[in-house]
Amino acid sequence: MTTATSSGSHDCLVIGAGVIGVCAALNLQARGARVAIIEPAMPGSGASFGNAGIIANTNLRPVFAGLTPLSLLSMLRSPSSPLNVRWSRILGLTPWFLRMLSHAGPAEVERITRALASLCQPGSALYEPLLEEAGAKALVRPHGSLALTRSAEARDQHWDKGLEFLRRMNIPMEKVDRRRIDELAPSVNPAYTHGVYSPAYQHTLDPQRFVQSLFDLFVARGGVSIRGHADALTTAGDRVTGIRTGASTVAADSVVVAAGTHSPRFAREAGEPVPHQAVGGYHAMLRSPGITLETPLLPLDFRVAITPMGDGIRVAGTYEFGGEGTTFDASRIDGMLAHLAAVLPGIQVEPKTIWRGFRSYLPDGLPIISRSGSRAGLFYAFGFSSSGMINGSSAGRAVADLVEGTKPSIDLEPFSIGRFTGRPTAGGREQAFERDQTGTKTASRA
Ligand SMILES: Cc1cc2nc3c(=O)[nH]c(=O)nc-3n(C[C@H](O)[C@H](O)[C@H](O)COP(=O)(O)OP(=O)(O)OC[C@H]3O[C@@H](n4cnc5c(N)ncnc54)[C@H](O)[C@@H]3O)c2cc1C
Repeated sequence: MTTATSSGSHDCLVIGAGVIGVCAALNLQARGARVAIIEPAMPGSGASFGNAGIIANTNLRPVFAGLTPLSLLSMLRSPSSPLNVRWSRILGLTPWFLRMLSHAGPAEVERITRALASLCQPGSALYEPLLEEAGAKALVRPHGSLALTRSAEARDQHWDKGLEFLRRMNIPMEKVDRRRIDELAPSVNPAYTHGVYSPAYQHTLDPQRFVQSLFDLFVARGGVSIRGHADALTTAGDRVTGIRTGASTVAADSVVVAAGTHSPRFAREAGEPVPHQAVGGYHAMLRSPGITLETPLLPLDFRVAITPMGDGIRVAGTYEFGGEGTTFDASRIDGMLAHLAAVLPGIQVEPKTIWRGFRSYLPDGLPIISRSGSRAGLFYAFGFSSSGMINGSSAGRAVADLVEGTKPSIDLEPFSIGRFTGRPTAGGREQAFERDQTGTKTASRA
């Protein structure tokens, strides 16, 4: 591992070695860029560590779909709801909640779902060659996922309302009854009589190892790993020239901000503040669950994810608004374990490890994958809410398109930071990475 020095310059410097930063770095590297990643901790130790491990999912909808101010309030007040709030912070959060609810109507939900579908659909195909090269294909299981309901009516309501638009997009989904549930997950409580099976889901047996393997590939391909904390951007005029870390600087032609919930401060520094929330999520990892499970489960009455992993079964979920900077709330884990026991009655919940991390959230539920509108050479990739693992490979390709200035493979307009700042972010050719045999760049910024 390299430590930061003021000498040497990189084509691109990526801030953060979560799944987004690592995927961006790999894609930039594949275009011929000399890339460095700066990260103070172990790769994949932020939100990328403790998530539910779903890495391919075709059914993405924003969590606030269909909510009204009243239904949101009643969810926040219900102890069994996945959405909750630190009430001492409710006043400060209200404007943000109202902004989120302004996207909850059918037209906005369809627009957002379409944008997320364009991002997530190529995901598994883009991960495949990377995982192959990283020797990490065994970390992925293509077992689909099973959403569970306690009645045919609840299943059909979900199918007709929640999934209608996705079905119109020919996303593969299958209505199932108890016979099929028994085939897919016989340990599930017989009270769950119906469900929806989504065969295109894939999950990883270990999210941190998944990211670490991709990071190791980045280093093996010649990528530079800098152990450090990016404290500030450095600039010359309106162009970013790198970052400051402690008493040192790291020079780079472009900087990609992929620091998860810590990203908005860099945008603020560049004069582009965004309405961001760090939304807490919890998991319990059961090391000896005493039952076998192959297919991840999504019980629709509790909205937790139950994922079989390499070293046990993980139950993950909850959206804790206003939780940043507060103490760990063990009652959230107790609630999730009670839900888990209701879904899988035979499960042993001890021994377990517990965790809380924070999702990076914008009020429309879409990430920012964007060129900066105020600083040349500055790019953003954050705000991936509950789908950073799913969207990592696709976001990484999009970042490389933006940095290189090539036509993006998908429409990136819905992900532009300009939707919050009002500043245009479109640009021309930014940077080319072609080199001659001596390693000298043959073309550069235009
Ligand atoms: C309970 C829960 C369940 C989830 N389940 C899923 C799921 O099943 N599938 C899915 O796709 N998503 C899921 N998510 C969301 C997913 O975990 C995130 O979207 C994703 O991990 C975000 O990745 P990231 O790289 O943006 O951020 P992170 O993984 O948080 O990485 C950011 C990195 O930046 C580093 N950093 C921060 N500041 C600096 C700095 N100044 N200088 C240098 N480095 C810095 C951090 O140390 C960190 O390593 C879940 C989230 C939670 C909380």
